[in-house]
Amino acid sequence: MNIKGRRKTAIVIGAGFSGITAAAALAAQGWEVQVLEKNSTPGGRARVLKKDGFTFDMGPSWYWMPEVIGSYFQRLGTSVEDHLDLKRLDPSYQVIFSRHNTLEVPADMSALRERFESLEPGAGRKLDRFLREARLKYEKGMGEFAAKPSLSIREFARWNLIRAAVRLDLFRSFSAHVRSYFRHPELLQLLEFPVLFLGAMPKHIPALYSMMNYADLSLGTWYPMGGFGKLVEAMVTVAESKGVKFMYDVDVRELTPGDGSVERVLTGKGVFTADVIISSADYHFTEQVLLPPAYRNYSASYWEKRVMAPSCLLYYIGVSKKIGRLRHHNLFFENSFDAHAASIYERPAYPRNPLYYVCCPSKTDDSVAPEGMENLFLLIPVAPGLEDTPAVRSSYFEHIMARLEAYCGEPIKEHIISYTDYAGEDFIRDYNAYKGNAYGLANTLRQTALLKPVIKNRKLDNLYYTGQLTVPGPGVPPAILSGQLVADYIIAYTKRSHYETSL
Ligand SMILES: Cc1cc2nc3c(=O)[nH]c(=O)nc-3n(C[C@H](O)[C@H](O)[C@H](O)COP(=O)(O)OP(=O)(O)OC[C@H]3O[C@@H](n4cnc5c(N)ncnc54)[C@H](O)[C@@H]3O)c2cc1C
Repeated sequence: MNIKGRRKTAIVIGAGFSGITAAAALAAQGWEVQVLEKNSTPGGRARVLKKDGFTFDMGPSWYWMPEVIGSYFQRLGTSVEDHLDLKRLDPSYQVIFSRHNTLEVPADMSALRERFESLEPGAGRKLDRFLREARLKYEKGMGEFAAKPSLSIREFARWNLIRAAVRLDLFRSFSAHVRSYFRHPELLQLLEFPVLFLGAMPKHIPALYSMMNYADLSLGTWYPMGGFGKLVEAMVTVAESKGVKFMYDVDVRELTPGDGSVERVLTGKGVFTADVIISSADYHFTEQVLLPPAYRNYSASYWEKRVMAPSCLLYYIGVSKKIGRLRHHNLFFENSFDAHAASIYERPAYPRNPLYYVCCPSKTDDSVAPEGMENLFLLIPVAPGLEDTPAVRSSYFEHIMARLEAYCGEPIKEHIISYTDYAGEDFIRDYNAYKGNAYGLANTLRQTALLKPVIKNRKLDNLYYTGQLTVPGPGVPPAILSGQLVADYIIAYTKRSHYETSL
């Protein structure tokens, strides 16, 4: 724990899931840790907007892989149940194919099997096989691959890992994999939806990611009562109990190198120093803006060639009445999935007939809306880097409101008492997000594990990166894993005598 008789110190830039996790993991090992966050509240992309009596989660709403999220608490000597009231949703969600054709996805496996069978004879049995395989991928993928710092090919060189990579279907497309089991278009859409957010067409995503179907259909969709903001609050509380100091409204503006390491962290509120710096701000921003060119791992053209996961158009809406036909999670898939995905990944442009998603947490949780009202979060995934204008925001809002009213069969717009839109320019302003990305770097085969931006700066011995632009990838559980793995790596690395003497 000591460097020449004193505690080791770390600065973590950013209080999103990855930053909080890295900070808490180091503090639990006796490090003195400060988190510098540019915004006035923690959570990063999972911040909370409180407005007009409503509590809106600004980012994540799907609480998947509960044991990965729970591992944050477990490793720090507590449990998620001590801090959160978690509910498993049933139905997990509904998919709307048309005004009269809705597929509810039940939490219960035998009911789900029947639902599959009713759409495609034999699909119930196939679902069992599909999920058995997906489970294997999940266990291997989350166990052996996701926890690797991915700094060297040697980490993957063990024979059983190479064999596992083949068995994990790293080299086959997700789309081909799903089609080798099922044919019904609605089942295909249901199974392909989780990868829409991984950042590529299902035909370009490795079949490994059918593990997301296991997370979805077998492990279930959960909800922390009070909203995702409660998860952030709980994580911060536990981190603080380990001694982490959070400082808000502190904008990091420069990392000044000197003698092979970052010497000073320049912020709008003064200069900070520490033995180790971990940036959980978007990797691109940390490198291209905070560091002088000679100290960057990657060039501007490297970033230009990266495939970013989508950005999105978001609307946080308060409605002064209850809405009958909505469930907690509602996927509006009335239009072509492929055409929308192509507008994100192949020919970046605003989609003509978008798919969209409506989260209505007030169906489960009275605390997020005034009595008798609904809290709506509307999301349209769009390509990153598109021009974001007030006209675009309002025209898509009108478009999906009309469709939502048609589906629900009742007026909604005239009952709106709270409206906030949020899109690409806001992601850039609030999070320094490259091209206004919402979900970081896409999980394509060419951007998996070793092929992602690495967690360690190659020229500055004490600078590390974490978060959704590095390993293992985007999403709340991966961001938590990312913070944990960078902290584990730093702890192991700083134990080596070379590092002790170089400080
Ligand atoms: C709309 C939306 C919906 C999503 N839905 C889901 C979902 O349902 N389920 C799921 O699992 N995942 C979801 N995700 C993805 C998930 O939210 C992210 O992958 C995860 O929160 C990323 O965490 P992070 O720590 O990597 O980054 P961030 O949350 O972006 O944290 C980085 C932090 O660094 C701070 N920072 C940046 N620059 C500086 C600076 N110069 N100085 C100081 N601080 C700085 C930022 O303010 C931010 O707080 C969603 C994301 C979005 C945007």
